[in-house]
Amino acid sequence: MLDRPHQTPEAPTRDERALSRALSGQHFIGGRFVPARSGKTFAVHNPATGEKVAEAAEGDAADVDAAVTNAATAQKAWARMPSRKRGALVAQCAGLIRAHVEELARLIALETGKALRTESRVEANTVADILEFYGGLGSELKGESVPFAPDVLSVTVREPLGVVGAIIPWNVPMLLMALKIAPALVAGNTVVVKSAEEAPLTVLRICELMGRILPAGCFNMLSGFGPECGAPLVSHPKVRKITFTGSAEVGRIVSKTAADKLIPVTLELGGKSPMIVFADCDFAKTVAGAITSMRFTRQGQSCTAASRIYVERPIFDAFVAALAEKVDAMVMGDPLDEKTDIGTIISREQFDKVQRYIDEGLATAGATGRACSAMPADPALKKGLFICPHIFTGLGHDSRLVQEEIFGPVTCVFPFDDAEAVLQAANDSEYGLAASVWTNNLRVAMAFAHRLEAGLVQINQNLVVQANLSYGGVKSSGLGKEASLEAMLEHFMHKKTIMVNYQ
Ligand code: ADP
Ligand code: MG
Repeated sequence: MLDRPHQTPEAPTRDERALSRALSGQHFIGGRFVPARSGKTFAVHNPATGEKVAEAAEGDAADVDAAVTNAATAQKAWARMPSRKRGALVAQCAGLIRAHVEELARLIALETGKALRTESRVEANTVADILEFYGGLGSELKGESVPFAPDVLSVTVREPLGVVGAIIPWNVPMLLMALKIAPALVAGNTVVVKSAEEAPLTVLRICELMGRILPAGCFNMLSGFGPECGAPLVSHPKVRKITFTGSAEVGRIVSKTAADKLIPVTLELGGKSPMIVFADCDFAKTVAGAITSMRFTRQGQSCTAASRIYVERPIFDAFVAALAEKVDAMVMGDPLDEKTDIGTIISREQFDKVQRYIDEGLATAGATGRACSAMPADPALKKGLFICPHIFTGLGHDSRLVQEEIFGPVTCVFPFDDAEAVLQAANDSEYGLAASVWTNNLRVAMAFAHRLEAGLVQINQNLVVQANLSYGGVKSSGLGKEASLEAMLEHFMHKKTIMVNYQ
């Protein structure tokens, strides 16, 4: 526990270390900072240096109950507010986030090791975009009129679900949180977020900022561990909807509890996304596209990372060489340095896991793993969780590196000769989140777009999630969609039928 009065700066700050200390030891419940009921905290580290940057409140069932009770009380008045006004308030939050983009970007770089220029600033701006997008949809919560009988008016109206529990991961925590809280709030729900134990600070600051605009209790934030804090949130009787982003393993646990309670759940889980490159593609654009697709700037820590790349044989060697050369030229280093392209892995646990996959790949007979980019030379970073991006060739399709989600800077490249065979290989995965196809042949591109088992297929590009485009996977990649108007209407509201007999 910290023995100093709690104070965060009113104005945007560029001192991310002071801000992280000021955010220490707190949940945000009912519009104010409160410590964990138990008084417990846990350490938050900067993965680039190993230094401790904060202590986060360690939430448990008592904190969950306090947050949910506050959210349930606030929800009644929030749901009665005209929906356009709710949207306007959420849009106003977008403005406040915009004013704090630099601060939020520095803070997320500090706690996650994501490079400021290539990742962190982009994420902070996207949060504002998402809040703006949903803020404008307050008037779109429309129902229908339903023909039934003369002298009977039958209509549907959409109503909020109540208190939404949102559980988020550490890779793009503020963006993924925005995808949940913005539609939930505009729809008239109130929210309790459980942040990821590796990245509790930036989302807490966002919660505090939004608390200056939203009524107390609408948006509450708890930090803590999965079984101790996440599980009681899912099982709390007043939580009427769960939206979860994380591993397929935990997604299944969350889904079982939600099934027992008979409440709806949205799950955004893992991926093992294929990128299919035909020989007639625009070569330079596609090599650059592979860098973006693999999310190398985020150390591959993305569920949509193109961790399987299939390249038509005539250009296979040239493609692998060009890709390796380009990744080699990327600068790995201090996440807060503007020159840095690639930051760190999030945690020691993930670092060890990724390293085990790399070691296994390197030990596989017939396989080659090319390590690209150089380790940072700065002695201040010697304890940093840096891993060189690896490009593997020569692996069998049944290798763990090809079938399992590594969530690190590791991609496996395969040559192919036959379009039908590569389509089958691409679909030979437990996951079905995203896919991309690179070709100038429209007929081939569209055939693949229709036949790939994925929630999102992109041709000649591979962007991250965008506000307004439905996002979500099939197979073990999840249930339900996020990011669009439909996602808000279908996943954060229910439809009530009202019939009026005026005969
Ligand atoms: P990762 O392995 O990448 O950390 P997880 O699925 O373990 O992904 O974590 C995603 C989120 O789910 C985190 O906020 C974590 O604390 C939470 N979580 C983990 N276990 C549980 C659980 N049993 N119930 C609810 N939430 C959990
Ligand atoms: Mg975990």
